[in-house]
Parts: sequence; structure tokens; C-alpha cells
Amino acid sequence: MIGAMNTTDLTLPDEAAMRAWRHSIHQHPELGFHEFATSQLVAELLTQWGYEVHCGIATTGVVGTLRWGEGGRRLGLRADMDALPIQEQTGLPWASRTAGQMHACGHDGHTAILLGAAEAFARLQREGRLGDSGTLHLIFQPAEELGGGGGARRMLDEGLLERFPCEAIFALHNYPGVPAGHFCFREGPFMASSDRVTIRFTGKGGHGALPHMAVDPMLPAATTVLALQTIVGRNVDPIDAAVISVGRIAAGNTYNVIPDFAEMELSVRALRPEVRDRLEARIRALVEGQAAAYGVSCEVLYERGYPVLVNSTRETRLAVEVARELVGAERVLEGAPPVSGSEDFAFILQQVPGCYLLIGNGDNGFCGGEHLGPCSVHNPHYDFNDDCLAPGAAFWLALGRRFFRE
Ligand SMILES: [Zn+2]
Ligand SMILES: [Zn+2]
Repeated sequence: MIGAMNTTDLTLPDEAAMRAWRHSIHQHPELGFHEFATSQLVAELLTQWGYEVHCGIATTGVVGTLRWGEGGRRLGLRADMDALPIQEQTGLPWASRTAGQMHACGHDGHTAILLGAAEAFARLQREGRLGDSGTLHLIFQPAEELGGGGGARRMLDEGLLERFPCEAIFALHNYPGVPAGHFCFREGPFMASSDRVTIRFTGKGGHGALPHMAVDPMLPAATTVLALQTIVGRNVDPIDAAVISVGRIAAGNTYNVIPDFAEMELSVRALRPEVRDRLEARIRALVEGQAAAYGVSCEVLYERGYPVLVNSTRETRLAVEVARELVGAERVLEGAPPVSGSEDFAFILQQVPGCYLLIGNGDNGFCGGEHLGPCSVHNPHYDFNDDCLAPGAAFWLALGRRFFRE
């Protein structure tokens, strides 16, 4: 892949080393907040290259800091390190050696890319090629996959940005289906918010033959399922994206008893913070209205998970320019369509301007045979594409050099 890049002005990252780290991390996957061996490897390597290393942030998070001259401009780059509770089925020589756990989202690749960049940054800095002064924070984050209680939130709660202030911060994710080493960007909202809502209607139980002596919580539950879709259809601008899915309903135990209560759980997603607020307000009002109509009481527990991920304009444009210079405009997609998935880097981007970008993973990993075609992340046949290591690390280097020069 390096042959396809404009790297005349770069000290290249060590592709063979990145491949070895990637395979080793892949063989030893660790779940969220249990990335002990992974963070130890990261900390040892960073220390060896002269970074000031801070461990144990959000249990297994590591930050490596390189500071030179007066400290200058402050840049943050972040990689996630956690694996998933999936039984690997790739059959690859570097397949997981831990039953029931695997790197099915390519975070092994993100970690190896940032390590490759870290080694080369340290070399460039020693050679005086990163300018007179600057501060680089490399953030290795645990537990991206853990929903609302993820690692980014915990690192922020433990003072990440106070201890390691950044003027701008960037992260990348591999993306299947886009050719390997191509880059995708989108300014503004890029990934959806993800919220979990629990609703409970409480009535009065009774005999199924005597409904007039009971207050049936089934009716508001049933009408709510249908009415919720009117929020998406009638209260949200048709140009905006919004999803309300009822994933669980639980009520009653047998056919001839009217139950005391009915409970349901929803997954709610939006691509703009304003739409997210609107969805929450309308869900609450609609549920209360349904409860009032049928004479039951209701409770709504609205748990906000990951927020909408919003890329800032200046940093996104900078990243696009750097990618174009590095791999050529034909391998860079600006204005990529938004993604309905969620990502906890969104919490960090609420506090610091920056950009989350995608690097194409090609069609690596087949879902149990060529006839089923390539698979998505979180599939037991998925594997990070090693052809992305060199362009990924070279991109971090080019971005850093540009950032510290400005
Ligand atoms: Zn994932
Ligand atoms: Zn992921």
C-alpha cells in the first residue's frame, strides 16, 4: 500500500512491526475495561520510544505524551483497544486464542496503527522534523463497545482533557465495503445518537372475565407501539433521520389474567442533537397521553447513551486535505453518508473540536464462504485488513506534521 501513497516527505511507519502487533493483539483479545495485556504492551512500547506514559485511566486506558520545545500546539489522537464477546470463526493463523472473545470490530488494527504512528512520531521529533515545539497526546481507550457506560465517558470523567488538554482531536475506524486504504469524511453530524428508553404502564390486575373491575395496562402498551411511529412520521422533519424501535414488550403470565403492569423498551436514534431532544420530549408526552387516555399511571426512564457524533468544520477540512495529499483525491470521499451506528468518541467531540474518519477495510473476511460475500464488523468472520496499517499510520503522521507546522 505504501507504493500508492505520496510519502516523499515522510519518515515511514514500520509496516512489519505494525502487522506483528496487530496479529498479537488479535490473538489475545480483551473485553472492555479488561484490556490489561493490551494496555501493558502499549505502555511498554511508548515508554521505550521516549513517551511520558500515564496508565490506569478508566482502569485500562493509556495516554502517551510527547512534548518538545515550549509545548506549542496540542494534538490528540485516539485509538480504541477492546474486543467483543464473539466466538471467532475466521480460521486465520492469528485467530483469537481466547474462547468467546475476538477483535471483530478491528480495534486491534486501530491500536497497531496508532502504535506505528507513535514510533515514527518519536523518530521525527528526535530528528527535529516536527517543528520547534508541540505536544502530542496519544490516547489508547478501553471499552468503546460497552454502550452508554463506555471508555471515552469514563476517561473524560477521570479528567482526560484537564490532564491532557488538546486543541484538536482525531480518531479513525476501519470500514468494510470501502476499498482498503481509501478515506471517508463527513463534516457535521456523522454518527447517530443511541438512547435506551424503558416505559412502564401500571394499572390494576384482575380476572380476564371481569375487565370492568380491573384497569388494563395492555391497552396503552398496544396503542403506544403504533403511536410512537407517528413521532417519526409527524414530529420530525422528513429531511432528518430518526429511528424509534420497540425491542421488548413484557406483560402478563397467562391468558385469563389482566396483569398489573406492562413494560416496554425502545431503541432511539437520531443524527442531530436537536432531533434527539425532540424525540425524547415527544416520547414522554405521548406515553403520558396514552396512560391518561386509559386511566393507568406510567413511568418513563430515558437513558441517554452515546450522543450524535459531530465533526467540526476546520478539523475535518484539514484532515481531508491531508488525506488527499497523501493518497490522492480519488481515494478520498468527502461528504460520506452518515452512519446509523454510534461511537463514544462523540463524547470527546462534544468538548474538543476534531474529526472522526473512516478508512476503507476492503472486503476482508467472508461470512462462512465466498457465496455469502463479505461481512460487516461484529461478524465472527471479520478481520481487520493489514493493508490499512501503512496508510492509517502515514495519515496520522501527515496530519501531525501539518498540525504542528501551522
Ligand atoms: Zn464495534
Ligand atoms: Zn469499532
